[in-house]
Amino acid sequence: MSLRSAETQTEMRVPLIDLSAQHRSLREQLLVAIERVVDSQQFVLGPEVQALEEGIARYCHTRHAIGCASGSDALLLALMALDLKAGDEVITSPFTFFATAAAIARLGARVIFVDIDPRTYNLDVKRVESAITPRTRAILPVHMYGQCAEMKPLQEISERREIPIVEDAAQAIGAEHDGCRAGSMGLLGCFSFYPTKNLGGAGDGGIVTTDDDKLADRLRTLRVHGGRTEYEHSEIGINSRLDSIQAAVLGVKLKYVDEWSKARRERAEQYTQLLHEASLTEKVVPPFVNRDSRHIFHQYVVRVPQRRDELRDHLSARGISTKIYYPVPLHLQKCFQYLGYRERDFPAAESAALETFALPLFPELSKAQQVYVVQTIQKFF
Ligand SMILES: *Cc1c(COP(=O)(O)O)cnc(C)c1O
Repeated sequence: MSLRSAETQTEMRVPLIDLSAQHRSLREQLLVAIERVVDSQQFVLGPEVQALEEGIARYCHTRHAIGCASGSDALLLALMALDLKAGDEVITSPFTFFATAAAIARLGARVIFVDIDPRTYNLDVKRVESAITPRTRAILPVHMYGQCAEMKPLQEISERREIPIVEDAAQAIGAEHDGCRAGSMGLLGCFSFYPTKNLGGAGDGGIVTTDDDKLADRLRTLRVHGGRTEYEHSEIGINSRLDSIQAAVLGVKLKYVDEWSKARRERAEQYTQLLHEASLTEKVVPPFVNRDSRHIFHQYVVRVPQRRDELRDHLSARGISTKIYYPVPLHLQKCFQYLGYRERDFPAAESAALETFALPLFPELSKAQQVYVVQTIQKFF
């Protein structure tokens, strides 16, 4: 099916993400897994969580994985394990989900934003070094939309300046940079199992990966109120454990995550090709893919320098859902006003917030739906 032969395509509905298609094929396996947990009556941590932690560690090429209640908590726990405290600084991106910066601020540390690379939407590594001060305790790159930040230069800075890297890999499970897996390139890696992530549970969940035995041990304590044994607390931790039901569900899905990410990648390539065929790539700029990376396409984000919102309305009126990730850069959020940043401080992040949006993408998205999306874009212009 080409764009031309689809001329007569009638209107269809294209959701941003459709979890039901995936669910239908897994339904029986998921119910068996959930039943197993219900019958065991062990609902928090336990063997199901341990098995998942081993599976994720293997998948992410790390020695350890420590389950917790969400991706947001994974970030919080990782920074707690580094003893982050008031007065410390952490360098991160202003163009990310709120939780990335919130984890830093929650611990009383100062968020130091560095602008993004306008092509990849990842931290602009050229700007990182000049943001380092004697108080910098960590660098927190985010692997946006499923493509790893440029980790090589970051690792070089990290080693030379002795500042650890914590990866926000919430959108990037299985993504690779130069053959290395997301979550294995920093001292700690943080993942989310929110239902719409590439590997999503039946509720909230998260995990921290690391090769460091001591940090792994510390994280296992921090997630249970800082106690190695019940009622003996060596430090003040939090309650952030992974539920057994989530682990059982995720264990079923982990087997398919490569297949799903491959399907996402193929659909992303398909979109790019269709946009090229329609000569739209100046008006709707496809995502930039680093040659030495394995992009898992958590999102397919296009840049529309002109009339973005009109185009989104046009698509929406024709049954096509899109979404802006993220409409307000974090340095302009009310809660971060105290940091003293202003408009125009981070032009690349600000223009990304004004010019980009995500097209529908999920493993079961059909070619006909993709053709319809691009055709509808073509009609708008
Ligand atoms: C989803 C996400 C998180 C938070 O994960 P939750 O499980 O929703 O708490 C953090 N950072 C990024 C970049 C995310 O996309």
